Amino acid sequence: MLDAGATHDVVVLEKELEEALEKEVVDLAQELVRCRSVYDPERGTDERSAARLVEARMRSFGWSVEVTEVAPGRPNVIATLPVHAAGRTLAFEGHLDVVTSGDEALWSVSPFSGEIVGDRLYGRGAADMKAGVAAMIYGARALELAGPFPGTVKICALVDEEGTMAGAKHAAASGALDGVTGMIVCEPEGDEICPSSKGAIRLRLEVTGRMSHGAMPELGCSPLPVLAACVEHLRRAQARLQETHGTHPRLGDLYLTPTTLAAGSDRQMNVIPASGSLCIDVRTIPGVDHRALVDELASAFSEIARREGAQAALGVIDDRPPVDTPEDDPVVRCLVDAHELETGSRPTIGGVPGTTDGTIFTRDLQLPTVVYGPGDKWIAHQADEFVTVGEIVRYARTYARAARQFLTER
Ligand SMILES: [Zn+2]
Repeated sequence: MLDAGATHDVVVLEKELEEALEKEVVDLAQELVRCRSVYDPERGTDERSAARLVEARMRSFGWSVEVTEVAPGRPNVIATLPVHAAGRTLAFEGHLDVVTSGDEALWSVSPFSGEIVGDRLYGRGAADMKAGVAAMIYGARALELAGPFPGTVKICALVDEEGTMAGAKHAAASGALDGVTGMIVCEPEGDEICPSSKGAIRLRLEVTGRMSHGAMPELGCSPLPVLAACVEHLRRAQARLQETHGTHPRLGDLYLTPTTLAAGSDRQMNVIPASGSLCIDVRTIPGVDHRALVDELASAFSEIARREGAQAALGVIDDRPPVDTPEDDPVVRCLVDAHELETGSRPTIGGVPGTTDGTIFTRDLQLPTVVYGPGDKWIAHQADEFVTVGEIVRYARTYARAARQFLTER
């Protein structure tokens, strides 16, 4: 439980300063929404405008800022606050890219205008996750202005989360986060603190048979019955694995979902095709051994293909393990306590059904990561995406409190 007598959880600022920061954090979130940071080479848009904005803001605070191009036009921005005494290193992470606005006619405001109506900041990326980026920057700024602290804070504003997470992979490999002892990923989770996330594996099965005329199927070897049997196998394997691993209290069940199936052409209905493919979206929960699961599927598919006289090759396109940071890890506890101090109530501990950049940092650097940020989970990627102004300010304050506790507790 929270130690009410602790002083490490207090971030005290002059009233005028606090009000100035509250205005600045909202202004920054609004300016970020106005940066059309959709990665779209055809339209010539990318993360650069948003990266320049956060870089300039953090340099103006006197922080040391590194900008690294992960790919042309796609810069990661990582800042480090000045260090006054040895201690832990806390990282905050957010992504600068946003998904497309979709059909703009479905929006009641222009998606990149950054309009504030009442208490809501509207726009593509308002919740996912320009508000989180602004809040982490001003949370760290408030922490710094409230007085010295041991250790340091890193602020990571990265590219390509909505794509292949190239920004996170690059940052993890670059050494820029060496020494980090905990990471807060500021994605919108509707006030839930999420120390666990599902794992994901993308698989592609290629089945090779032998082409022949539809009038003489006995001369060929169709991949189609093999693919059908593999889809059927997935259903059984899923049921068995769900039985073995049970339902995770916050993440639910694991799934093996066929998402694409392709073979032949409807322009050539009299041809038995030589090959076909099946893509599978695997979602796992903590405790599932990804390698064993993939090996098991590969040998089952090979056996099914062999029986039909065909061959099967299973390829792993992407592999992201589940995240299961313990609830008593300092990076989780500091958020739980800060949330309670800010809101007056204990937060819900939740789980992320998808993956975040945090998954990459846990996978590649074994970092304890936790996801907690302004905005509702369900609003991401929808028309009329919004975040409330009150939340942006509250999260900045919560991040400042959490950081002070994480860095000062013994
Ligand atoms: Zn996001």
